This record gives sequence, C-alpha cells and structure tokens, in this order.
Amino acid sequence: MTKKKLQSIRGIHDGLPSQVRQWRMIEDAAKKVFTSYAFSEVRLPILEPTELFVRSVGEKTDIVSKEMYAFEDQGGDHICLRPEGTAGAVRAYLQAGLTRAGAQRWFYMGPMFRRERPQKGRLRQFQQIGAEFFGVSGPIEDAEILAMAQRFLDVLGIKQTRLEINTLGCETCRPAYRDALLVYLQARREQLCETCHERMDTNPMRVLDCKVESCQAALKQAPEMLHQLCDVCETHFEGLKAGLDTLDVKYELNPRIVRGLDYYNRTAFEFITDQLGAQGTVLAGGRYDGLVESLAGPATPAIGFAAGIERLAMLLPEAEAKSLDVAVVALGEQTLHHALIQAAKLREAGLSVVFCGGGSAKRQFKMADREQARFVVTVGEDEMKAEMLMLKNLNTGEQAQVSFAQVVAAVGETKAC
Ligand code: ATP
Ligand code: MG
Repeated sequence: MTKKKLQSIRGIHDGLPSQVRQWRMIEDAAKKVFTSYAFSEVRLPILEPTELFVRSVGEKTDIVSKEMYAFEDQGGDHICLRPEGTAGAVRAYLQAGLTRAGAQRWFYMGPMFRRERPQKGRLRQFQQIGAEFFGVSGPIEDAEILAMAQRFLDVLGIKQTRLEINTLGCETCRPAYRDALLVYLQARREQLCETCHERMDTNPMRVLDCKVESCQAALKQAPEMLHQLCDVCETHFEGLKAGLDTLDVKYELNPRIVRGLDYYNRTAFEFITDQLGAQGTVLAGGRYDGLVESLAGPATPAIGFAAGIERLAMLLPEAEAKSLDVAVVALGEQTLHHALIQAAKLREAGLSVVFCGGGSAKRQFKMADREQARFVVTVGEDEMKAEMLMLKNLNTGEQAQVSFAQVVAAVGETKAC
C-alpha cells in the first residue's frame, strides 16, 4: 500500500532555516529603525471577530468579500484569521482606553491570512511588518512615517524600490470627484473588465487600481483626485511634499494609487519594485482619519503602513551572512572532553558553535564544511598541552595556533552585524 504524502495547504509555506534567517534580518532592521522613531512593538491576536473587518476594511472589498478565512467556532462565534493588522490595532487601541493617552506609535509583525490565488509573492499565509501612528493629523507626521519606511528599506540594503504617493481627498472633496470619475467610467464601460464593472457600483475609485492592461489604457484620461482637492486637502498634500523634500525622501506622484481598503483618506503611498511583476508593492499604507470613529471611538486621526516580509526577502541583497561562527574539531580520543569544554566556552563568549563530535578527522572536517562554518578550531594533543587552539579561517585559509582569547577576538571581529 502506498502512503499518501502529507502536504501543507496551497499558498501556505514553511519557514525553513535559510528563510527564517532572512526574515529575522528584516525584523531586526524594523525593530531598530522603528524604535529610533520611538515606535513600540505590540503583539495582537491572530483571531479576531469577523465583524471587525467587515466594519473597517469594508464589506465590498476583495479582502472581506472573497479572501477571509472566516468561520463559526464551536460556541457559535463568528471569527476569522486576521487578513491585515490595522483594524486589530485600532480595536486594541480603543479597548485599552488609550484615546486620551496622547499620540500612540505602534509597530507589529506577524502572520496574516488571505485566500488569494497563490503565485510568486502572493501567499495565503504571509507575514507583515506594520506601523500605526494614532492621534496625529499633520502632513509633517506623514512625511516622517514615510522617511521611517524609507530608512527601513535603506538599512536592509534594498535599493530597487521607488516611492509613489497620492492623495485620496476627504469627505468634503471626494464625493464630487467620485461623481466625475463615474461619468468618465460609464462612458468607457465597454472597454473595462468585469471586475471594474463591479467596482463601478461598489467603489469606483478602485477601478483606477485595475491591473488589466486594456483597463489601464481606457483610464489614461481619467480625472484625477489631485486636481479636485478641497483647500484643506490641498494644503495637507503640499505640506507632505515639502516635508519629504526636506527629509530628502525621493517620491513620484501616482494618481492611480487608491489602496484596496475602504478606510483611507488623504495621503496614500506605496513602495514599488519592478522586480516582482504584478506583486511589485512591497510596502503600502496611508492616512485613515475616519477609522477610529467608525469603530465607535472618538474622532482620531491616524496613519500607518504594512510591508510584506516575504516580498522584502525576495529583494534582499544576495550576500547572506553565514550564521555559524566556529566548528570545533577534536583530534584523538584524549582531547574529546577538553574540546567539548572549549566549544561550551566559545558559546558563552557569544559565538555560535557546532561541536563536530570527535572521531575521524576527515568526517569532522567534512562536517565543518557542510555546516558552512566561518572558522574551524582544532584541538589536538599538542594544543591541549599548550592550552592553545588551532584556528583556521575557512574564507582565507589562514591558520595559526592561538589562545582562547585570541580565538574569541578574531572570530568576533569578522562577525556580520
Ligand atoms: P497587492 O496589491 O499586491 O494585492 P495589497 O494592496 O493587497 O497588495 P496591503 O493590504 O496593503 O496589500 O498589504 C501590505 C503589503 O503586504 C503588500 O504591499 C505586500 O507586500 C504584502 N501582501 C499583501 N498581500 C499579500 C499576499 N497575499 N502575499 C504576500 N504578501 C502580501
Ligand atoms: Mg491584495
């Protein structure tokens, strides 16, 4: 009888050591940069009431209407695996009663779930790093949060992205724009795809975001929000651009950026790369001044963004730091325990160490090679008697008999980050 192999769910992947090493680099960079902007980490639940997303992300959005993993649990509660982080952050902010505690700067990282069609860069379980800034309304804060996102990408050495910004207006100026857009779209209905037809009924601005080429061609002359802003939105947008110029954050205007969720207003932005095809947006966000109030809180302006960890990982520069510092080789049976102690002491000194287990020298050196250690420390009888260690740099081939302290210094000196 053949046994059927067990497989993970389509679009849901394991994080194996080489991937997790990259994810940790990304997470470490986020922690470092966001903390320098005085953002604090929050850890929020993965399961949330389904209603939270229906009310915030919007019933008619793709995420809520088609992509949520939502179900009724054994107690009859309607819950779902969170598809994004902002709604949960707002819920937590309100539930903790922080609305009078002054501006809150939060960041989070963790898995999100969307039942999308799996493809490169589009998964059903993926990870996001997000930041939310509650209680600030000015364009200067928008510029700062964009500078923070840019710094995060810079620290990671990701150079192939461009920042595109747009403004979505507000309740005062958007309705008239929407109407004008709808008139334009209706005149070109035939040239637009099925999905665009649906969006014309639910949220016409989302038509602008359609990835179908023939739709984009039909949208060439579409009216732009940029040209129909009320005075307040106009001033805000000018302030944002001036702030970005001051902070030397390069950007391009893209009147097509609308974001897929209902709650955004004014500033919207995406960091985009041409290297990941249709999955080119690696970090995206915007201002969502109405969301806290719509979830039954006091009127609270806010802005945030989220980046996909897996997409960022695909853009990381090749040179991946080897994680193993030292492989310890024991030559001859008498040295086994002495070498074992040296391995333990090297770990206490902060190095990552594999003990090759003694026995055949050939097998141990082969193991050191396979483990991709940067250095090999060999303990032979001579070294044991002299209280020295043989240190070999596997990158350069250099070898010398040195003291324990010299091993720690030499290996530590060449350690990445
Ligand atoms: P896209 O236009 O690519 O579908 P989105 O607008 O749905 O993106 P957001 O909801 O703004 O994306 O999420 C922010 C970031 O999270 C995206 O820019 C992307 O890097 C990442 N992301 C979103 N959905 C997925 C997914 N299914 N798989 C992997 N990463 C994703
Ligand atoms: Mg999407």
